[in-house]
Amino acid sequence: MKKIENLIGNLRKRGIEAKSFETKDDLKKDLLNEVNKDDLVAIGGSMSIDQIDVYDDLVEKSKEVLWHWKVDPSERMELLRKAIFSDVYLSSTNAILEDGRIINIDGVGNRVASMFFGPKKVILVCGINKVCNDYDDAMNRIKTSACPNNARRLNLNVPCAKIDSCVDCKSEQRMCMVTSIIEKKPPTIDFKVYILNEEIGY
Ligand code: SF4
Repeated sequence: MKKIENLIGNLRKRGIEAKSFETKDDLKKDLLNEVNKDDLVAIGGSMSIDQIDVYDDLVEKSKEVLWHWKVDPSERMELLRKAIFSDVYLSSTNAILEDGRIINIDGVGNRVASMFFGPKKVILVCGINKVCNDYDDAMNRIKTSACPNNARRLNLNVPCAKIDSCVDCKSEQRMCMVTSIIEKKPPTIDFKVYILNEEIGY
């Protein structure tokens, strides 16, 4: 708990509103309170958002929900472009450092782009397993856990899917195209981080 309190303090020093939750249900209730009936909501590729099981509630509560996981591949690119200008953008993060910096690696880049410009509000959901001591620890976590697990989920032919480590591959199906570090609240966004005191996502 001390670790979470320190993290929340460090996020606030960076201008980022942060809260912690003990259960997925408590987190989900608070998150739904952030959504209004006229809102266009968009969701990034995120196992954490999937695991809090909030999609149906969002569909019921808001004007429209965009999630590329829910549409035919032919519709995805148009949806991703529209999502950048959503009222509320929901995602997880690949890692968050104890000092409050937020680290992500993305393939297409839509998820990281939508975290720092475009949406009016961004809420990142982060399980305790994503909290890392420092940058090297974060990159190691991403490259030996997030990337291999995502590669296997997407059935990608990349080395990390087989060996659980990164060789900086030049594969056609490489999923690490863009790396971002959010160091302070993006100025045009109402930016929040919700930390769950449970392991969630990967
Ligand atoms: S660079 Fe290639 S091997 Fe390394 S994590 Fe990304 S996809 Fe996997």
